[in-house]
Amino acid sequence: MKTANFLLSQTGTTIFTLMSALAVQHDAINLGQGFPDTEGPADIVQAAADALLDQRNQYPPMTGLAELRQAVADANKRFYGLNIDPQSGVLVTSGATEAITACLMALINPGDEVVLFEPLYDTYLPVVRLLGGIAKLVRLAPPQWALPFDDLAAAFSPRTKLILLNSPMNPCGKVFNEIELSYIADLLEQYDAYAVCDEVYEHLVFPPAVHIPLMTLAGMAERTLRIGSAGKTFSLTGWKVGYVSGPGALIELAAKAHQNLTFTTAPNLQRAVALGLNKSDDYFSDLATGLAAKRDLLAAGLKNLGFGVLPADGSYFLTADFSGFGFNGVDIDFCRAITEHAGVAAIPVSAFYASDPPLNYVRFAFCKREAVLQEALSRLARYLAPEALTRTG
Ligand code: PMP
Ligand code: GLN
Repeated sequence: MKTANFLLSQTGTTIFTLMSALAVQHDAINLGQGFPDTEGPADIVQAAADALLDQRNQYPPMTGLAELRQAVADANKRFYGLNIDPQSGVLVTSGATEAITACLMALINPGDEVVLFEPLYDTYLPVVRLLGGIAKLVRLAPPQWALPFDDLAAAFSPRTKLILLNSPMNPCGKVFNEIELSYIADLLEQYDAYAVCDEVYEHLVFPPAVHIPLMTLAGMAERTLRIGSAGKTFSLTGWKVGYVSGPGALIELAAKAHQNLTFTTAPNLQRAVALGLNKSDDYFSDLATGLAAKRDLLAAGLKNLGFGVLPADGSYFLTADFSGFGFNGVDIDFCRAITEHAGVAAIPVSAFYASDPPLNYVRFAFCKREAVLQEALSRLARYLAPEALTRTG
């Protein structure tokens, strides 16, 4: 048989699926794949259920229901002072995952260079490569994951088409600050390049950290596509409703990609998400406050056990260094061992690197009930007790 697409043939099953399957197999608490273990707001779920029954279940408009596009534009204004045209400046997609692919399809020609930060979310690189883009990776270093200004400047060239920026960042919880964003903005202007901003964790940012969309910086609105996710903002990750905001000319291209990917997104979910985006400010601040408490609980517990816990200003995730345990193996071995023997699943951070990754970090999701986080900590404590420290699993 002829080789099918060689890039996809080389792409493995995502680490999130692998670790979730292992968690199920061993009846482990799943602190791997990032999904909350409680339902999203009851009124939003009810609105989606109600909407199924009112006979508006045929194809919605390709770029999204008018009420959701309006709600996305209003949220841009309310939270960031951004003026987005609800007609031409918003595209609704089936999850941020589709939005990322559609935006990259809108911008990349074969041979274009694309600047990305490592560690990086797992869908970015395969899609850039499938489109014939050439990835220019810039590595952020733990524990602060600060922007390496000179490395970033060196990654830009006249062939740079865009930067793919994820803030707050998965897996490390970094939130890019204003100085870093200004530096990125200057480079984009200097090289006349675009930005695709994956901001799915925009409302999961823990004070005093503040989320600043790159799009709000001077000169950026016309060259930026900004992506959000209802899954994250409303703790309904299975819904897969995403939205892109940007200038009409770029949204039009992303919409052409979307029409070839999914064309549209379930109308009842769109209507419910519109209701969600119109919720009061309290909903959004309570979401962040509640998650910050969970982060603090898990961080303190992991530190107590002997992990080196890195700071996380946003997202669902904590990065923890397990080298203090003298474990005989790398991050994937450690994740397997704690899943199988402690009953707690995590994600190896090496999965977020294209090559030559650090091997001593694991990612724990803290978007779980506090009792579940406590139970996970107790299980880890039993397994990582001093007499078990050299176990290899
Ligand atoms: N980007 C990042 C950084 C993510 O962590 C996720 C997690 N699911 C996504 C995109 C995808 O979002 P969605 O579920 O809306 O497709
Ligand atoms: N974004 C989720 C995470 O990082 C996973 C989503 C997925 O499984 N594709 O855990």
